[in-house]
Amino acid sequence: MSSMDISGLVGIPEKEVAGHLEHIRVSLHRSGKAFIVQPAECVKCGFVFEKRDRLTRPGKCPVCRSESIHAPLFSIESLG
Ligand SMILES: [Zn+2]
Repeated sequence: MSSMDISGLVGIPEKEVAGHLEHIRVSLHRSGKAFIVQPAECVKCGFVFEKRDRLTRPGKCPVCRSESIHAPLFSIESLG
């Protein structure tokens, strides 16, 4: 799901979702689950924002400068 989906589900503003996800990621790791991030991707040229550590949607592609960016997607998986 995207940060917008999470925003709708739990009723917090989308811009606050990333901050909460940082805490969720740490908590999940302690309880034996993995927080999976599918990185944001440029719609126009396909550039993947793999190195980006932040969980927010990037504003602009560094390669083609397009502002059409697929938002990063999040999921939770059990380890082991
Ligand atoms: Zn691009």
